[in-house]
Amino acid sequence: MNVKGIIFDFGFTLFNFRNVSMDSYMDAYRRGLQKSIALLKEQQIFKDQTVIEKFKKLIKRKRASFFQKSMKTKEEFPTTFLFEQVLDLMVKKELIDDLEEKNADFYSELADLYHSGEATEWVPFDFTKETLEKLYNLGEIKLGVLSNHPHHSLVENLLKKYDMDHYFDAVVTSALYGKRKPDPGIFHYTLKKMGLEHSGASCFMCGDEPADIVGGHRAGVQTVLCERVYKFPIERAINVPDVIEIKNISEIFKHIS
Ligand SMILES: [Mg+2]
Repeated sequence: MNVKGIIFDFGFTLFNFRNVSMDSYMDAYRRGLQKSIALLKEQQIFKDQTVIEKFKKLIKRKRASFFQKSMKTKEEFPTTFLFEQVLDLMVKKELIDDLEEKNADFYSELADLYHSGEATEWVPFDFTKETLEKLYNLGEIKLGVLSNHPHHSLVENLLKKYDMDHYFDAVVTSALYGKRKPDPGIFHYTLKKMGLEHSGASCFMCGDEPADIVGGHRAGVQTVLCERVYKFPIERAINVPDVIEIKNISEIFKHIS
């Protein structure tokens, strides 16, 4: 097969989470949430501790309900939208004053802070840059990133931070597209952004999760499963024919010629 494009998943495919565990993951979110709360306090939106406690409960509840919906429909609920919804609800409940003058930038800043805890924990694998550089220098294969993440700029900024953004013809997140992998639409959207709309069969989707493999298969792309050393508490089986299995992305070269 003459490979025209490779789409990479982000987490645990290109980047690794430092000292990963459910606790370290939750801890990063807790730290981020504290920073968002600090901004809301600084701007006098939250005036006392009772309001903050109510906010914490509401955001937890909203996040859980978004998660449930998303499991069924694959719809993504961006973090900006989460903050907007919760703060709107607090206005309606008269817990905080009206936020009329707040615009999209304000919600983006809150979301940036919320994800700042995890932003410092995601680091590229040792082999990531070298592999991308080699693929890029072949000059024949278009590269893309496709990540299930509720805050687009987190992924984009991390690629920039480690000087990798220029390798990619498209960086797509579920926050940007509105639906999550394995929805096939997000794969077609990514291929289109890479200029490979009708070349799915000549492309690879390379990721560590069933969502990458099942979704890629549904979208008519050849799938490549990257081994993940860390195992999530619940791992689903992958029942897709013809999956190529590799230990990490540096092994991709064996399969593209
Ligand atoms: Mg992943």
